[in-house]
Amino acid sequence: MAGDLHTHTNYSDGSYSPEELVAAAKKIGLHYLGITDHDTLDGIRHLYENGLYPGRGVNIIPGVELSANHPEKDIHIVGYNIDIYNEALLEMIDKIIEARWERFSEIIRILQTKKYNIREADVLKTAGTSRSIGRSHIARTLVRLGAFKSVREAFEKMLGKGSPAYVPRYLPEVDEIIDVIHQSGGVAVLAHPKLVGDDALVEQLCTKVDGLEVYYPFHKPDEVQHYFLLAQKYNLLITGGSDFHGAASRFVNELGEFTISDTLAEKLFVEPQS
Ligand SMILES: [Zn+2]
Ligand SMILES: [Zn+2]
Repeated sequence: MAGDLHTHTNYSDGSYSPEELVAAAKKIGLHYLGITDHDTLDGIRHLYENGLYPGRGVNIIPGVELSANHPEKDIHIVGYNIDIYNEALLEMIDKIIEARWERFSEIIRILQTKKYNIREADVLKTAGTSRSIGRSHIARTLVRLGAFKSVREAFEKMLGKGSPAYVPRYLPEVDEIIDVIHQSGGVAVLAHPKLVGDDALVEQLCTKVDGLEVYYPFHKPDEVQHYFLLAQKYNLLITGGSDFHGAASRFVNELGEFTISDTLAEKLFVEPQS
């Protein structure tokens, strides 16, 4: 059938628990499921420690999505098949999460000075199990509290880069991220190259990563073709995924709405040892 190599759980900013995500993947008959939470391995660890990974009926590919430092552009690197107990990787993640908490408090403080009636506790309620507090949790809370009509609007007016409540945070460099992914035995893939918004930069990044997320819901056919050729030029693994976050998000609504062929997905799958 098919695979989806890019999904999020409620351990970062998705709305499905890892169990729910795996169950949904099985229900629709996905063969390969990449779980790629932002800045955390907790979702995969949760599955692993509860005997749910390796998953029966669906091949789970463990991953993590890390944002890299850049003055203007959003660069997201996904590490697949990383060792979820690797010390260097966990150390980097700890540093990122700590910085996220600091930024979270700062954003709430700014919003309060702008007369938004929002407290840290409101956001923590939205975030639930997630330790990796992000702007999308804040955006969803603002929507829930009636301050904005949609998450998109909250980003455009308050939380996005260049907006009044935008606060930068510590992000590791691209090279550091790729290095840590390699140290933990994984492969580094440049996620959604179109969202980087700079083709010259994308091509430069292609010289460093192991794979390129050619297939992505926001990529138009000519863009898919462009990234496909780029991946071939730099001899990169070709990946793809929906960036599923659960319903009512900026991404696809249902798991299975956007998938890639098994021939591509199986290249990323490593039989778990157990
Ligand atoms: Zn991303
Ligand atoms: Zn993502």
